[in-house]
Amino acid sequence: MRKNIMCLSKWIWRLNFCFACVLTVFTFSARNVLGMRGFTAENAVTQKRYETDFKEHVSAERCRHRLRHLTEEPHLAGSENSRKVAEYLRTEFESYGLQVQVYEYQVYLPYPLEVHVELVSPVQHLAVNKESGWEWDKDSYETEIVPGYNAYSPDGDVTAELIYVNKGLPEDYQVLKERGISVEGKICIARYGGSYRGVKVKVAGDNGAVGLILYSDPADDGYMRGDVYPRGPWRSEDAIQRGTVKYIFQHASDPLTPGWASTKDADRLPIAEATDLPKIPVVPIASRDAEPFLKALAGTNVPSEWQGGLPFAYHIGPGPAKVRIKVRCDHSNRPVYNVIATLEGTEYPDQWVILGNHHDAWVYGAADPGSGTTALLEVAQCLGELAKKGMRPKRTIVFAAWDAEEFGILGSTEWVEELKSTLQQKVIAYLNVDIAATGGRFYVSAIPSLRELIREVTQHVIDPGTLKPVYASWKAAQGKEIPQVGNLGSGSDHSPFVGHAGIPAISMGFSGAYGVYHAMQDNFYWMEHFGDPTFQYQAAMSKIWGTLALQLANADILPFDYETYATDLMTPLKLLQSSGSKSKIAQDVKALDDLLTEWQQVAGLLNQGLVRYLASEDLSRIGEINQRLYQLERNLTSETGLSLRPWFKHLIYAPGLNTGYAAVIFPGVEDAIANGDSTEVHAEIDRLVAAFTRMIQGINEIREML
Ligand SMILES: [Zn+2]
Repeated sequence: MRKNIMCLSKWIWRLNFCFACVLTVFTFSARNVLGMRGFTAENAVTQKRYETDFKEHVSAERCRHRLRHLTEEPHLAGSENSRKVAEYLRTEFESYGLQVQVYEYQVYLPYPLEVHVELVSPVQHLAVNKESGWEWDKDSYETEIVPGYNAYSPDGDVTAELIYVNKGLPEDYQVLKERGISVEGKICIARYGGSYRGVKVKVAGDNGAVGLILYSDPADDGYMRGDVYPRGPWRSEDAIQRGTVKYIFQHASDPLTPGWASTKDADRLPIAEATDLPKIPVVPIASRDAEPFLKALAGTNVPSEWQGGLPFAYHIGPGPAKVRIKVRCDHSNRPVYNVIATLEGTEYPDQWVILGNHHDAWVYGAADPGSGTTALLEVAQCLGELAKKGMRPKRTIVFAAWDAEEFGILGSTEWVEELKSTLQQKVIAYLNVDIAATGGRFYVSAIPSLRELIREVTQHVIDPGTLKPVYASWKAAQGKEIPQVGNLGSGSDHSPFVGHAGIPAISMGFSGAYGVYHAMQDNFYWMEHFGDPTFQYQAAMSKIWGTLALQLANADILPFDYETYATDLMTPLKLLQSSGSKSKIAQDVKALDDLLTEWQQVAGLLNQGLVRYLASEDLSRIGEINQRLYQLERNLTSETGLSLRPWFKHLIYAPGLNTGYAAVIFPGVEDAIANGDSTEVHAEIDRLVAAFTRMIQGINEIREML
């Protein structure tokens, strides 16, 4: 019976989705005649005009101009150039008529003093830890380009036999074990990809390695994919992928202030007591340097999936290649600056929609993060111009430019830690764009309650490549009837909002052939020739981002859809049930399954009730209803956090312990299963039962108000 209701409502919803306007009246959809979720018929007309005006203001040419400025100099977090970028952002936001506040923190940011990676035998080869320059590009000789290094590698000087471990995933070490090959006391060389680099170094250390070399294989983002820079968008043989190796899957905070803000006088842990730092030295090298290292390996041939794109047959080793890694860093605390600009709402100034992107870069950062920064500024400028003409949002829109994301999401996390209770009170949603455009393929991850909103908004922004709505090309690229939205893990600034504060979030962008990630070549030339030559995709991203913000800022009833939330959790729960059968949790999961079905049902009734309420005469409780709607997410968090990593409070989504960026769903249970701790598995399921029960209760309380 319950199942039938579910199917029927889904069927109606789908029809409605295809013929939005016509069927709306008959299907109790949350949309009105203009296809807008959560607006009264009258306000939808005003809103449509507001959105159209906004989109007409967006200028690709301004995006180009700003990106040129942002990429003039390398601007590593903590450097004087980074401070100058923050200053530029402050003056830009002010010139748009916004209120600006700069939040400064002192965070631990190690800079490299010496990075030495050498093949010592059977032949000698010293890796070069900087990209080559080009005569036609003076910027490529810039002295402030930070050498290739992995931030938070411990200092060390180790010499040992080399061993190739493919991508350095747990299953790769399993393959080695099955072949009787040990990495104990060896230096591993792993190619990038498949997991976050901080996971790779942890797994290597856990397996007994004494050091790790990471390299970019041409099969993954180099010449095997296509022409390399400067002829094409892919990674040239000299381009190094820099990057942090901090354990962001433990927490995203400054390593010395986990859980509290790194203000000037804050208490700080000694570095030795930080729990999120790797134990063995780790360094990144380019493919041209990996070549002699890998060529010098003997021993067993690799399994065919381990063969990369260098022109010889790969061997595992260990040896006879012997290598030396030496890393020495300046382990100082340095200033970072979050630039926060506010456009105050007219009716509900204490309800905030936050748009955020980081501004620090490994080198020039044209795509990462410049393309996102330029879009952030574009949205701010356009909304600022409209506000000057008297069109102001009802709720407050906040624009946040974060610092030190590249070191491990530090700037945004310190801010969330400092303002946590205020944010939990006021923030409706956090909308993240990191890399706005490296091509034309739209991608998005989000908390499920916001997924329907994304599907709606993308129907009204044109894809500059296909000249059809972004929604249509997104759907076509996936080959699905309804385009799927991904799950939020880590890897950018949404992490502290979702994981630590339990605030609903979206993270999105346009992707393409992008081989210069975290290398010097992620520069203006690359963007102008390959990534987004017309800057139209940065403009399109600005339109999607701004429209999402305007809908959330102006909706009469906030467009959260908790029915979709429950629906989207059903498959993961089934998977948990099957993966958990070994640990005899199938019965426990059944209780969750029943609760999820109930959640889906009551949320469906809530959606219908909200539509009726919106059409009614008396809207006096609308303020309170909205506040409850956006705070429902908090029912899915626990103040004590996940038992193995208590900084993460969200019980449904967290970055995977073995993936680092990619999400795991029901992380507490998954962590406990991986640990083989059946008591803990039961305890974690009990917490989910309590969370689902709270969610159902929260939904019912809103229904009673209608
Ligand atoms: Zn980034």
